[in-house]
Amino acid sequence: MASTPPTPMMAQYLALKADARDCLLFYRMGDFFEMFFEDAKIAAAVLDIALTARGEHDGVPIPMCGVPVHAADAYLARLIKAGHRVAIAEQTESPADAKKRSGKTLVARAIVRVVTAGTLTEEALLDARTANWCVAIGEAAGGVAVAAADISTGRFELIECDAASLGAELARLAPAETIASEATAFGEAATMLRPRADFDSGRGETRLKALYDVATLDGFGQFGRAALAAAGGLVAYLDHTAKGAIPFLRPPRLAQTAQQMAIDAATRESLELTQTTNGARKGSLLDAVDRTVTAAGARLLAADIGAPLMDRGRIEARLDLVTLLAEDAGLREALRGTLRSMADIGRALGRLAAGRGSPRDLGQLRDGLDGAWRLGERLGKIEQPPALLGELAPALRGHGALIDLLTRALVASPPIDASDGGYIAPGYDAALDDLRDAGAGGRRAIAALEAEFRNRTGVTALKIRHNGVLGYHIEVPARFGDALMKPDSGFTHRQTMAGAIRFNAPELHEVALKVTQAGAHALAAEAAHLEDLIAAALAKREAVAATADALARLDVAAGLAERAAEGGWARPALVDHACFDIVGGRHPVVEDALAKRGERFVANDCRLSEDSRLWLVTGPNMGGKSTFLRQNAAIAVLAQAGSYVPATAAKLGLVDRLFSRVGASDNLARGRSTFMVEMVETAAILAQATPRSFVILDEVGRGTSTYDGLAIAWAVVEAIHEDNRCRCLFATHYHELTRLAERCDALTLHHVRAREWKGELVLLHEVSEGPADRSYGLAVARLAGLPPATIARAKSVLSKLEAGRAKTGGLAAGLDDLPLFAAALEVAEEQCDAIRAEVETLDVDALTPREALETLYRLKALT
Ligand code: ADP
Repeated sequence: MASTPPTPMMAQYLALKADARDCLLFYRMGDFFEMFFEDAKIAAAVLDIALTARGEHDGVPIPMCGVPVHAADAYLARLIKAGHRVAIAEQTESPADAKKRSGKTLVARAIVRVVTAGTLTEEALLDARTANWCVAIGEAAGGVAVAAADISTGRFELIECDAASLGAELARLAPAETIASEATAFGEAATMLRPRADFDSGRGETRLKALYDVATLDGFGQFGRAALAAAGGLVAYLDHTAKGAIPFLRPPRLAQTAQQMAIDAATRESLELTQTTNGARKGSLLDAVDRTVTAAGARLLAADIGAPLMDRGRIEARLDLVTLLAEDAGLREALRGTLRSMADIGRALGRLAAGRGSPRDLGQLRDGLDGAWRLGERLGKIEQPPALLGELAPALRGHGALIDLLTRALVASPPIDASDGGYIAPGYDAALDDLRDAGAGGRRAIAALEAEFRNRTGVTALKIRHNGVLGYHIEVPARFGDALMKPDSGFTHRQTMAGAIRFNAPELHEVALKVTQAGAHALAAEAAHLEDLIAAALAKREAVAATADALARLDVAAGLAERAAEGGWARPALVDHACFDIVGGRHPVVEDALAKRGERFVANDCRLSEDSRLWLVTGPNMGGKSTFLRQNAAIAVLAQAGSYVPATAAKLGLVDRLFSRVGASDNLARGRSTFMVEMVETAAILAQATPRSFVILDEVGRGTSTYDGLAIAWAVVEAIHEDNRCRCLFATHYHELTRLAERCDALTLHHVRAREWKGELVLLHEVSEGPADRSYGLAVARLAGLPPATIARAKSVLSKLEAGRAKTGGLAAGLDDLPLFAAALEVAEEQCDAIRAEVETLDVDALTPREALETLYRLKALT
């Protein structure tokens, strides 16, 4: 069958679609965005809207669906969430212009924007409390770098890392979109591959210079080639999606990964720092800590907790500000009250800069800057302010002229939609006021005409109405129509409706013309002002963005102070040596969960020091081992993020790398992890942990057979103790591991306490010294509801096993012969000899009670 040529419209559509192959194409037709072919099928399914057909292509009906333009944002949001990208083709001329240009009615269309998850600025499409990163991976000269832009606020970061830490960086940023060169080895991490040329470092440098209109980038920092490659790739991509109108990007900031606590992706996930393993914010550490009152504050806190600092000075500076606000409840409340009422000026600015700003964004900017000013005044009165406050203060005040301009120019609450006008304040522009007066005068004249027409016709039901088609017109109920229909009535018939008839009249026409003209001129005048005001705001965008940052920092500090006051948290003391000394520590997430059930959290100490840097924690399942491990990791994160910590007192040496691993079987419930993954992750710890690191290992080795598992756990503990020499909490149910205490001098034994009381198991959740006396496995099983018959059977099996163990020396029999610690065993032999010698010399009958006691002490000292 010969294929019929496509209609001109279809030809235009197909040409546009060819340019947007990796996107769904929103094709503007009047008040709708239409989608065709495969796009229509996909969109109809995702959006749950009707799939219809329009015309034919190659003899087959063309699938089609559409969404109304006015509601497009909500539909876009759903498509983007579902992982799609949308190219928007707008009409770029009016039908009249098209006719003039080509003699045809087909209007020209062009793709004006590509909407992707990483390049959104619309309020409706973004989560206010989460940064929206678009990230590019660059490589050059053997280095790897990440460029990250949040174009909703203009933040732009460059991070120089290496292949090994790339995953950790990406996990920290949790980007909405990740791009990389099509020639990269890191393609797997990317959601989108872009042309290789975009990632050339030389071109990247040129692109940045052009973007900021500078001759050299030195003013921004010293960027390596990989960073330039990443930045270049990112800017090229933003340029592509915005079709040349690059959104607002602040100058790039070089983030030094060495200045941050290194936290790899697995640790981040297992500690649920900023989101739970299901991806929810609720239930994460961040959620339990967050008391910020602004969206920008929430975003900054998430960034802080995701990237704890390594620089003691900076941590102390943040803590000083938190202390000021923790101790002065009045100041804290005043600050939070002001912040609470403030709009998100960072994102308002982002929308204005992206050319999608509304009068309301300007209003938000005005109110936000005004609020900042007032805060600045209040904070300026504080005597001996902490250094960080001194740094923030100038950014708060300093927009006097802009605030003044926006206050004079705008009404109190400007609308989102500019098309109806009404946002420029009266008194700002005398000419505009005159136009509005003329309009208002005209409307009064129309009201007078209505009265006059009623008089003249005797029809009291006569009304003057307005609509988009007829403009102003006269309407009477149908039964009175005849009187006005007469040729000499002075009315001209326009339209007959079911119950009403509409007319025009020359007097009305004249006045109406004045009203509409004045209205159109007023609208044009307002639009011109809007443009000027946006330009004035954008001229100050650097400074406005700095103000937004300062407000966010204040919100974070006040929120942390609030949280500390609420929970009785303590300011951590940071020291230089590798200690970790927590008194009365708690896990905020578990504590909150328990509080909801009316239960109390049992606080526990964790006192790691040079000679007790590895704690082996045993005890029954559900006894609180994992919670104890995680709460201490959380405390390290919070402390270095500049927060108070959930403890009565805390002293710690800075942690350079934090690791958390959970044994495979604990993870299996999530259906992701396997024993292999567990081992790969454990290997990473052994390779990377330094004496300044902090490691928590929870039931490592559990994902395999008992013997394998015990052997692996044993070897891992030894390696951490001997080679890594880091601070470590190791939870295990292998009692055999407790023997390691005899050979590892900096390893100490601890257990979570439990008791059997009247046949019931009571978990005390209390961490005590020494090994657990037994495992209580059967008691836990009963607690979990295993049938009594099964428990009884298990008991008899257990006694058999235990009898066998007594004969053979148990699972760990023979471990004492391991050669690795032969030297340590020799020492033990010597000790025994010394004790034996001492005992042999004793004349027990001749000892006074006091001497007996002293001897016991002496013997104890020999062990
Ligand atoms: P384990 O790792 O020993 O199996 P978990 O740490 O998972 O135990 O704790 C099991 C449950 O016990 C938690 O969900 C919590 O409800 C409770 N729990 C844990 N630690 C405490 C504590 N310190 N105080 C009170 N309850 C706790």
